[in-house]
Amino acid sequence: MICLFDKRVVIVTFKTRRDGIIPSRNLYVPITTWVIVCALCHSIRAAEPGATPAAKSTPISSSEGTKFVKEYYAALSRSDVSNVVAKFAQSVDYGEEGQRDRAYIEKDIHVYVKRWPVLNLKPEMVAVSPKDDGSAALRFNLAYLLANESNKKSLSGQSANTWIVRRVNGEIQIASQHEVVHANPIPAIEKTPRAQSHEDEEALSDEELKKQGDTQIEIPTARSLPKVSATPAAKIARKNAADFVVALDVGHSPLRGGAISARGVFEYRFNRRLVAELFAQLQSLGFTRSFVINPQGDEISLAHRSVEANEQKADLFLAIHHDSVKDKYLRNWEINGKTQKYCDDFHGYSIFVSRKNARAAESAEFAAKLGRALLDAGLTPTLHHADQEKRPVLDKEKGIYAFDDLVVLKIAKMPAVLLECGVIVNRTEEEKLNDPAHRKRLIGAIARAIQDLAQSPSTVSKNN
Ligand SMILES: [Zn+2]
Repeated sequence: MICLFDKRVVIVTFKTRRDGIIPSRNLYVPITTWVIVCALCHSIRAAEPGATPAAKSTPISSSEGTKFVKEYYAALSRSDVSNVVAKFAQSVDYGEEGQRDRAYIEKDIHVYVKRWPVLNLKPEMVAVSPKDDGSAALRFNLAYLLANESNKKSLSGQSANTWIVRRVNGEIQIASQHEVVHANPIPAIEKTPRAQSHEDEEALSDEELKKQGDTQIEIPTARSLPKVSATPAAKIARKNAADFVVALDVGHSPLRGGAISARGVFEYRFNRRLVAELFAQLQSLGFTRSFVINPQGDEISLAHRSVEANEQKADLFLAIHHDSVKDKYLRNWEINGKTQKYCDDFHGYSIFVSRKNARAAESAEFAAKLGRALLDAGLTPTLHHADQEKRPVLDKEKGIYAFDDLVVLKIAKMPAVLLECGVIVNRTEEEKLNDPAHRKRLIGAIARAIQDLAQSPSTVSKNN
């Protein structure tokens, strides 16, 4: 269900891509920096000229608001990026991605119009609600049809939009832009090649990876796949928390959000939240050198997530995801006035390792520690990946599977594990995952497994 084939992604595209604000080109800026940057953004926002007395004196009329929206989409439909960008304030509350600057938005829209050369965007009636501070809320539905002739892709649907606009030096500008997309069913022809599960698109064969021709990526050579329960070999002294580097990978991206929850929320948002909380927990436990890969959510390749961890000489690569089920198990329900997909038949966590990982036995060792910690915390595994996708189960009790071609796991040179924290198409489990107390239990278990790995001597040789 990765978004390449999900049109919900599409409109989100031009609102949710991020970078720009953070000047550093490092892809692994710790969240502490992230927080500081956010604080800065908020102070920038507070200092914006929006609520000046001058703005108060000229309320935005209904016809002005309507004209503004129409001009915006007319410019976007003809890929007139500079005209579109000029309609934004210097700093914008940009959809799910929070405060973004114009440079970021410009880059984002460039990517969007390149991806969709044919844009047919028709706003319907605009409801304009002037506010006391001289700004106005604009609410309207948008009918969209996006197409790319070169790859024969097209998407269509409707979205519900809420913008906050205000007058700056006489010009109306967008201060906030939010959109909820309701996509039409995708024509069957566009679904090919259809992934078996949303994580299938996280996997590439060695041949496919070679075709990418990136010299930074070392594709593991064929090896005999080791068993999970490796025999004790040379005992390797482990590191103190302060020297043990955990690379945390936030599954998917704002542009390719992964699975969609029972309440219509992209998996990426669950992944990002959990990683932020886990990162904070690791910091408090002394894992001060641990870092988040690509915290800004740039569109980096799967392989480069691992290359980042390799370059930082991480001791452990942990990818955080949230789970779905195959499409045929999904049913419709109405929630908050919208039709969403759900399946309450499967719940629980699952753990994946790649037997092509350079330290496969240690990956399996960590997977076992993680499974044990999650069980001890009262969580239960789901085995639906065995039935639905024919994934080999390595440890039924602990919910550990082999998924050898998961790119991030096989490119990582350190022990690497992917954790599906829970099934977000399950209505109850989604609620649980939104409950801070449940996440605390989950994060506590993950952190304990990491501590265990860092502190206890390994049972396997580094050269397995
Ligand atoms: Zn995922």
